[in-house]
Amino acid sequence: MRKKRVAVLGATGSVGINTLRVIERFPDRFEVAALTAYNNISVLQKQARRFKPDYLAFSREHFSCLKEKFGRNVDFFDVETGLAELVARRDIDIVVIAMSGAAALAPFLRAAQAGKIIAPSNKEALVMAGDIIMAEASKAGARVIPVDSEQSAIFQCLDGRKDLADLKSIHLTASGGALCNVPLAKQDKLSMRQILAHPRWRMGAKITVDSATLMNKGFEVIEAMRLFDLTADQVDVLVHPEAVIHSMVEFNDGACLAQLGVTDMRLPIQYALTYPDRLPTGLRHLDLAELKTLTFKKPDTRTFPALALAYHVAKKGGIFPAVLNAADEVAVEAFLQGKITFTSIYKVVEKVVMNFKTVKMPSLRNIQQADQESRLKAKGYLKG
Ligand code: MG
Repeated sequence: MRKKRVAVLGATGSVGINTLRVIERFPDRFEVAALTAYNNISVLQKQARRFKPDYLAFSREHFSCLKEKFGRNVDFFDVETGLAELVARRDIDIVVIAMSGAAALAPFLRAAQAGKIIAPSNKEALVMAGDIIMAEASKAGARVIPVDSEQSAIFQCLDGRKDLADLKSIHLTASGGALCNVPLAKQDKLSMRQILAHPRWRMGAKITVDSATLMNKGFEVIEAMRLFDLTADQVDVLVHPEAVIHSMVEFNDGACLAQLGVTDMRLPIQYALTYPDRLPTGLRHLDLAELKTLTFKKPDTRTFPALALAYHVAKKGGIFPAVLNAADEVAVEAFLQGKITFTSIYKVVEKVVMNFKTVKMPSLRNIQQADQESRLKAKGYLKG
């Protein structure tokens, strides 16, 4: 079997690092073709020494320093402008999109057009322009195998099937984040540390805050609609604090299939890389007898208004998911910098969304403009 050549976009973040740990386990199956990062040059250098990629992408100002260390055997790409060109290269088979943020849109779309196997943990690109990306992917025969744990669970339950006429709905599970049992009125009394302490998953700061507001789950509702071609009414959210069931699908006859597993991203990452094969992960397996109880409840949208707003946006569609995403990114950044309170994140995002005008059948350009405009509006509200 020829080795699959993998590009890891966002190699120094938590999903990127876990992806390399998976690749390391299967030297006969995979080799690292490209590594990219935004600002963590020291980790990127360590990874480059270990995995010897042919391509590196980083900010241009550091090229000379990287060239000195990695010499002529490596081609360099500007991480700001060069990722789309990089992922389309013929000697790359799998593109893992582990970077966060709207910057993933261009390389994701290009990888789809180039017919690659795409393993995204990034949700911003799918939220913003998922229907455009998925249409291009199906035209070019690209396969998108999600890495986000809930979407991976759905993909696993469907076993890659695309004829979904008998699928009634899906249930995305949410651990409930750090504030699962904290009423809205008390949320601003919590410290940054309490909000950043996710009970089940260790992730970056932005997504941990989004998990605490449940905006992350709202994004996942939209992400699932795009990945599996569903309406908002077909996507249900279920709070499940143990985070053992990673999501489930329900068919027309009432049968439900669920995917269960330990909370370790290496499982969905490895599945995306080795699909349809299932190989040992080296991780501990679930012990349901030890767990004894799994609990579920409906999310309380009074405590978590962001989820209701995300559903509103999901139904409106068009540019609105991009607006939601952009406004949230600005507001969460302001919260992380201590400029606004936790509950103000929602207030800022809601204001931007509610004051935005609809664009019918938006093009990619319309979406990108809406993204920029929402950022400016959100920043304006922060000042005001
Ligand atoms: Mg998730």
